[in-house]
Amino acid sequence: MSDPANSKAPVALTRKPAKPPASPGAGKTACIRTFGCQMNVHDSDRMRRMVTDAGYAEVQTYEEADLVVLNTCYVRENAVDRVKGHLGELSRLKKEGRVKKVALTGCVGAAEEATSLEKTFGVDLVLGTHNTYELAEFVGLPGMEETYTPDLPGMEEGDSAFVTIMTGCNYQCSYCIVPTIRGRMACRPMESIVAEVERLVAGGTKYITLLGQTVDAWRHGGMKFCDLLERVSKAAPRVWFTTSHPSNMEDRTLWAMGGRDTVVGRLHLPVQSGSDRMLKAMHRGYKAERYRRKIEVFREAVPGGTLSTDIIVGHPGETDDDHERTLELVEDCAFDSAYIFKFSPRGGTEAAGMGGRVPDDVVQRRFLQILRAVERNGFEANQRRVGSSEDIYIRRGLSDSGGAIGETWGGHSVRLAHEISCGAEPGDYVRARITSAGPHALYADPGGEPPGGRRR
Ligand code: SF4
Repeated sequence: MSDPANSKAPVALTRKPAKPPASPGAGKTACIRTFGCQMNVHDSDRMRRMVTDAGYAEVQTYEEADLVVLNTCYVRENAVDRVKGHLGELSRLKKEGRVKKVALTGCVGAAEEATSLEKTFGVDLVLGTHNTYELAEFVGLPGMEETYTPDLPGMEEGDSAFVTIMTGCNYQCSYCIVPTIRGRMACRPMESIVAEVERLVAGGTKYITLLGQTVDAWRHGGMKFCDLLERVSKAAPRVWFTTSHPSNMEDRTLWAMGGRDTVVGRLHLPVQSGSDRMLKAMHRGYKAERYRRKIEVFREAVPGGTLSTDIIVGHPGETDDDHERTLELVEDCAFDSAYIFKFSPRGGTEAAGMGGRVPDDVVQRRFLQILRAVERNGFEANQRRVGSSEDIYIRRGLSDSGGAIGETWGGHSVRLAHEISCGAEPGDYVRARITSAGPHALYADPGGEPPGGRRR
């Protein structure tokens, strides 16, 4: 079991900048296909920057591409089968002379199966999550010797950007493949992060999300995550961070969330179970009571904030009593929302080999009970916002219903009617009155708009 107190010191990261030659990929095309989590999306963006720096034009289909990069995820049970399907198609296109090169990257690239996939499908380059920088050399740019490329810009999406502050994880949760795939925690220096944030903000970015597998475990040069959050919150107009680990979440960070005007008051703190017995089996490194105490501090420090979590249902050995403890914790913490996962074994994890499998029908029943409890709490909390006036940050200009989707400073998702959000772009603020609420979102409809209406 991993104990955060015994975790190794973070690895200091360095880079060797090098100037690219003139467009080695000029006239060529590249297609990057991404599977999986936000970290993969972010890695893909870094690779996209490499191929476009090399002069490749990005295309959306395999048929149009000289180079295809498959950035893969290992989390789903049939992940490798899915990748095989894509590689089969790509190997056919290669034989027809349409696709020239295929790169397999990400979690499947780091897995044991990568070698046989490389041979079977004639893959030209296989990279894990720790050495994606090698793609640079593959596309004709000078090589980079670091394991991390902090100055390659993060994912930028108009008004918002993701900034990776650390990679890997020092925990060993029983069900998780991340430490095997992504390695131990490596933290990026504060100055490099702040410089990237300042550059993004100067370029018009309005919303920065700090990203990492255990983002609140960040530490570097004697500084801890709270110090970094305070620095970034002074440099950016709107800041959020994900994903946190309860053992690393300091009260100081929670108070900084509530005390800094620019930090969104939304905490995503995965708990996984309310049973100490299961938390121990999962090697989570904390007890339910400690988690509850953190949430008490959060509620006091960030009034009006929102709280979300992850819960695993049916981990091997979970009894009805363990499940009851989780239901109690769900009630006590009154989560606004939760990602509830039915346990599924992942090859290469400890839990995959554990006895005490929970039957599917029992998992389904427990899943629904937790889901209903979370949705009831979310609904009640959202109802209490009806009638309030909020400054809403526009995330997406047009939803399917013709209105916009936004976010309050407390992290509530808001659907704005077209009449209220008309003309507002992502990154704008709209002041509106909340007229109704469901379990997952608040609604601002006509008739509730306060005098003064929209503001930018
Ligand atoms: S679940 Fe999170 S904390 Fe646990 S090993 Fe995976 S990435 Fe690390």
